[in-house]
Amino acid sequence: MPELPEVEAFTRYFAAHALQQRVAKVEIRDARILGDVRPGELQSRIEGRAFTSVRRHGKHLFADFGDGWLRLHFGMTGDLSYYREGEGPRFSKVVFHFDDGAKLAFEDMRLFGVVDLVDDPDAYIERQGLGRDPLDPTFTLRDFRKAIGKRKGAIKALLMSQELVAGLGNLYVDELLYQTGIQPRRSAEKLSDDEVKALFVTMRRILSTMIDGKPRRNWIFDRREEGERCPKCGGTFRRATVFGRTTYWCNKHQR
Ligand SMILES: [Zn+2]
Repeated sequence: MPELPEVEAFTRYFAAHALQQRVAKVEIRDARILGDVRPGELQSRIEGRAFTSVRRHGKHLFADFGDGWLRLHFGMTGDLSYYREGEGPRFSKVVFHFDDGAKLAFEDMRLFGVVDLVDDPDAYIERQGLGRDPLDPTFTLRDFRKAIGKRKGAIKALLMSQELVAGLGNLYVDELLYQTGIQPRRSAEKLSDDEVKALFVTMRRILSTMIDGKPRRNWIFDRREEGERCPKCGGTFRRATVFGRTTYWCNKHQR
């Protein structure tokens, strides 16, 4: 399932292929993928224009076309494909045809993704109550402390909610809690100052390691298996459904 690092890759892919070219046609193959926008509006507002820039916030991609922004959310199986020949991917839902004949398809087998228009990404982010993007260079430890504040509830649920920070899903939250030694059900308000700092620093390190394709050493990411031995401490990995998601943690060093 695409989380922040994967959506960052889609954003770079979009930037590398789809900017500064006139969109001749927006082909809607399956209107069920659309958010609030009507098919005719998506077409009439984008056709004849070009995408000029693209940005990401959490798991959302926003592409500026001068008269608004395209918003893409990749759900569980969303993907982008740029191609010149043939029909394109089997599960293409919306295909942008450029002047030179190249195409960019948004594909999504499971249909949990969304193609939509927004007038202003910042207003959208605020309206949705999304937290800061963890990789925003202006986002500081102080901001993160303030956002956690005296929030109650389990840290895993809070990190997954998109309200504290935007972009983390099940896999990266498990990784973050594993690497910082925090039990998924621990209450956020009981975290020490050092633990909050560790969460902030480690969150950025995990995400940039994934984005840069650097080697992962001793990550739980690569061994999500009940009963597996913890490479950090020799403890045992446990699996349970926590807040509706399959969760792995070490029974010894995560407290
Ligand atoms: Zn351990």
